[in-house]
Amino acid sequence: MYAQSELNYKVVNAIKTESYDNSQAYEMLNEITTLFGPRLSGTENYMDAATWAKDELESLGLDNVHFESYSDNFRNWSAKSFSIELLKPRYSKINTIPYAWVNQTKGVIKGVPVLVDHNNLEELKKYSGKLRGKILLNPNVGNRDDVRTGPFTDEILAAAANHNKPNNPDGLDNSGLEPFTESLKRKISDKKETDVIQLLLLKEKVAAVITGSSSSPGIIYARQLPYHKQRDLKPVPHFVIGKEDHQLIVGMIEKGLNPDLKLHLKVDFKDVSENHVNIFGEIPGIDEKLKDQIVLIGGHYDSYHSGTGAADNGQGCATLMEVMRILKKIDIKPRRTIRIALWGGEEQGLNGSMHYIKNYVGDVVTGAKGEEHSKISAYFNHDNNGHNIRGIFMQGNPELRPIFEDYLSPFHSVGAKTVSVENACCTDHVPFDALNIPAFEWIQDPMHYFTHQIHTNLDVLDLVTESSLKHNAAIIATFVYHTAMRDELLPRKK
Ligand SMILES: [Zn+2]
Repeated sequence: MYAQSELNYKVVNAIKTESYDNSQAYEMLNEITTLFGPRLSGTENYMDAATWAKDELESLGLDNVHFESYSDNFRNWSAKSFSIELLKPRYSKINTIPYAWVNQTKGVIKGVPVLVDHNNLEELKKYSGKLRGKILLNPNVGNRDDVRTGPFTDEILAAAANHNKPNNPDGLDNSGLEPFTESLKRKISDKKETDVIQLLLLKEKVAAVITGSSSSPGIIYARQLPYHKQRDLKPVPHFVIGKEDHQLIVGMIEKGLNPDLKLHLKVDFKDVSENHVNIFGEIPGIDEKLKDQIVLIGGHYDSYHSGTGAADNGQGCATLMEVMRILKKIDIKPRRTIRIALWGGEEQGLNGSMHYIKNYVGDVVTGAKGEEHSKISAYFNHDNNGHNIRGIFMQGNPELRPIFEDYLSPFHSVGAKTVSVENACCTDHVPFDALNIPAFEWIQDPMHYFTHQIHTNLDVLDLVTESSLKHNAAIIATFVYHTAMRDELLPRKK
């Protein structure tokens, strides 16, 4: 294999030096999270952060830096003020975050909550006519304790490297990958079920709904409802509270203590579409025959409304901007054009990347091909947590193995050596893959991502590790550079 290596060691060493010694990734992430905080799609926070990223890409000297709107009559929603307090039998503040895309309360609401599983339609119907002005508390609480944590062991990585099928029940990313078109259909039918429940809650004039966080005590796993379009309904106010508070209040009700709650939520719903943008920049290719071809790197810039969106996916975007910074700084002259895309709307259903795909790449439902379908050599997505890259998922294409093993070889000594045919799930590379564009996610150590970071109030800068950002930027820059320089496009699935 090494006899045919594509690696340019001079460039690899320059990438490593620039990434490990002069990294700007953590400082960029510090700016994104400190200046703007959470970047829920369509908010002014998102737009301010997008403007910052556009300025930053321009200051790196990239070409063709611009916004493209992905708007489809989306709403803007933001929480302006909210709280839940326990007044009786004793005073306590309750740890809470409202669901995104819900309506505000009618002023301050007080009352003893009614225990109802509001997600169970039959259960909810039993209370018909009795819930006007009431606070509902769902007695059931989810459990996210069975998620992966810590670094991957050598055994787990070796098993993933040896699997010969893309979907394995014991795979690294066994999130139940279903064909993309199936997942689109499922989302439509899920929304119909949610609509029935939400319309009933509105009809019954419920004052507010409270759910316990499915994460460990102290960690709010934030939620949203699928009403981010202008013509959508405005659901009654929903809150998530900490598991510790949920257990306490349910316990008080069961012991007949009649816990008295006081709560309020103020939100801004605006029917304007201008804050929904993707952000692009390029290093143009110089080879006359190949410069129209593209190596695309991207990740979603939007986040949940909890925490500051540091791991999901501020770190991914800061690392990708760092990759572009490194490649500019060491002054590569790529044969193909290298393009960075920071997507909006991922958390509401890959809206930003899907808009790009529809305009330029193809139709994921009919399979019709767009103008860039034959030109994109690869799409490298980065949205897998910010901990150390240990390798790459081939997304079902074993032909990539020798190429990717070659590109990873300079990083074996720092723990990145696994090339797995397995699929990675559930983010912006999936619709590219559905059109057979070689599209990838990185294998990354889970560490505390699924327990403490993703979509939670603790998705903050302090839980991101600077050394991982340097390690990851060096690996991604190495893949991007060599994909842009090789004679052929990366092979596609047969
Ligand atoms: Zn994400």
